[in-house]
Amino acid sequence: MDYEKLTQLAGPRWITVDAGALEHNLKAVQGLLQPATKLLAVVKADAYGFGAIEAARVFLKSGADYLGVTTLAEGLELRRAGITAPILLMSPLLPEELPPALSNDLTLTISSRAAAQAAVAAAVATGCRGRVHLKVETGLQRTGLPPQELVPVAEEILTGNQLHLEGIYSHLAEAARPQAAIKQLNCFQAVLSELEARAINIPLRHICNSSGLLTHPDWQLDMVRIGTLLYGQFPYQAPRRGLELVDAWNFKARVVFVHEVERGTPVGYGGDYIAKKPTRLAVIPVGYADGFALTAVSRPKNLNDLARHLVKTVLAYLGRGRDEGTIVTINGEKAPVVGRVGMQLSLVDVSHLPDVKAGHEVTLSLRRPTASARLARVYCRDGLIYLIRTPSGELVSASLPAY
Ligand SMILES: *Cc1c(COP(=O)(O)O)cnc(C)c1O
Repeated sequence: MDYEKLTQLAGPRWITVDAGALEHNLKAVQGLLQPATKLLAVVKADAYGFGAIEAARVFLKSGADYLGVTTLAEGLELRRAGITAPILLMSPLLPEELPPALSNDLTLTISSRAAAQAAVAAAVATGCRGRVHLKVETGLQRTGLPPQELVPVAEEILTGNQLHLEGIYSHLAEAARPQAAIKQLNCFQAVLSELEARAINIPLRHICNSSGLLTHPDWQLDMVRIGTLLYGQFPYQAPRRGLELVDAWNFKARVVFVHEVERGTPVGYGGDYIAKKPTRLAVIPVGYADGFALTAVSRPKNLNDLARHLVKTVLAYLGRGRDEGTIVTINGEKAPVVGRVGMQLSLVDVSHLPDVKAGHEVTLSLRRPTASARLARVYCRDGLIYLIRTPSGELVSASLPAY
């Protein structure tokens, strides 16, 4: 296999992103939407690890109407890349962030009366009649206007006429918990009815994320905000609605060194692992700084949860967990990571794979949100690599056979 160009641009480890799969997933989600419902593709957090700029381009080309990100920096990154589609900033901004947001035509989320006034002032100062969406607090208790403040704030914005009041939205705490979700939906509906009763017409009303769309398909309103599904994953416990998604993600690295150690040799930091037999070790250029072998553990919510965590930890200790993070695949065979995972290098026991050499390709699993932005993203379509985001973040066009 000819790796020369790939190694030159990506280095010895990379994430392959199948743009065809992203496109397929977007079309599949569109298939669930009513004809008038718009699709906002969420590309926050570097498009869930897939690379914001190229993911945004693929989604827009496949028919997404709007993009959504969390921070100003994320919005500016897309604008700098020449993306002109509407982009919703879903987090409140600090006052000094308002002028650059407005002058780059980024849509603001308004979560308080003070924020509305600051946005009006920034619109006057910059001379930009920016778009805004009002955020309603319906139960997540993160950000948003209390329902009773919606009408006065909307009226204030409309009367001032310095901003385009384009949308109104809310965010579900957990769509799969029926009682809580219905309560939030009803609260949002009450706000919408009140606005309607006062003839306040806001064109884009939206509340569903991925799990909301699958659990409450009749709540699409004017737009849905979808992330998880576009990247090929189903939200926890949501119904599938016949949706067929394609995984667009593949994490690869190449072996950089192979050696053998005798029985009884302590291996890796702290000598945590002791070779039980003569052992062939392959070194892979991947470690925890890349996000490898990291598991997010939240504080247990209750005793049941605590028991579940303990069982998982004991199983992981016995090497029998369901966590596949530390099993890799080389030449089609599985092999375990041994010893402590290093910052950027790890060891794999390949005693049962005598043919493994430096240069061979390894497939690993990596939780997407923990994947370092310093790992190259290699974009392919129809068996061809067409674009590479290098470890330093440059986008370089390519034309290489995909592996
Ligand atoms: C992340 C996010 C979404 C997308 O959620 P998914 O469950 O990944 O579809 C939608 N809306 C808001 C406000 C978000 O923060």
